[in-house]
Amino acid sequence: MRRPDLHLHTTASDGQFDVWQVARLVARADVTLFAITDHDTLDALPAAADAAYERGLAFLPGVEISTEGDEEVHILGYGVRHDDPVLNEFFRTMREDRVNRVRLIGEKLKALGMELPIEEIIAGAGSSVGRPHIGRALAARRFVQNTGEAFDRFIGKGKPAYVPRLTPTAAEAIRLLRSRGAVPVLAHPGEIRWPMERVLEKLTEWQQAGLMGLEVYHPANRGHCADWDAIARERHLLVTGGSDFHGEGTSHGMIGETAAEWPNALQDAWKLYRLAKQNESQGVTL
Ligand SMILES: [Zn+2]
Ligand SMILES: [Zn+2]
Repeated sequence: MRRPDLHLHTTASDGQFDVWQVARLVARADVTLFAITDHDTLDALPAAADAAYERGLAFLPGVEISTEGDEEVHILGYGVRHDDPVLNEFFRTMREDRVNRVRLIGEKLKALGMELPIEEIIAGAGSSVGRPHIGRALAARRFVQNTGEAFDRFIGKGKPAYVPRLTPTAAEAIRLLRSRGAVPVLAHPGEIRWPMERVLEKLTEWQQAGLMGLEVYHPANRGHCADWDAIARERHLLVTGGSDFHGEGTSHGMIGETAAEWPNALQDAWKLYRLAKQNESQGVTL
């Protein structure tokens, strides 16, 4: 069965496989239209386009932006240009902030009597260094039993060594993507643990900011896809879906799996493809 998968990660962020390996798995899963949506980077997109071309697959360049609020919300952007100077500068600043934040957490921990080799941790973790790396280092030195305890006692939100991140709000990420000619889509609404009423209120606010779609068919929405589908269509939002594949044996989905429960998968996916391609080539504010 021909099917789409519009949410895939590679080694450019926290995926297990590079774009060439992902493209091979995509072809093997009989996925004919796919998107690469790495976290906060466009680095994999040129190679992904080449890999797709080589295998005769339709490809949409994408990105998944982490945003900050009282709940972490992810915004997918489709039709981004890999050489977009504004987006690349934006992600570079986010990466720098990640590293600076880890250094600040290290200083706070040192003041609490727990010294860690912060520069070594940063060098070992690469551009996606974060609190999990600190948590593991604290556990390795027996300051805590495990990473969970590290978050609960020291590095979780509101704890003595917590440092906030310089991430955009969801509305800011949506506006940024629109201003660069991309199509913003709210990722995995099922992962947002707010009461439904609050989510719907926020959806209205995000639509006012320029949100164009809802990722209805995602493993985190399982059991509630029909509700999200109805909500999206009633609000004239694009319906999208993807596995959020990160690799084999991870807690995320496997390539192509969400399309099985997605009644209008091809129509919905090609509609997004058309809009995103249109915007990508125009490169102007909608
Ligand atoms: Zn996500
Ligand atoms: Zn993802």
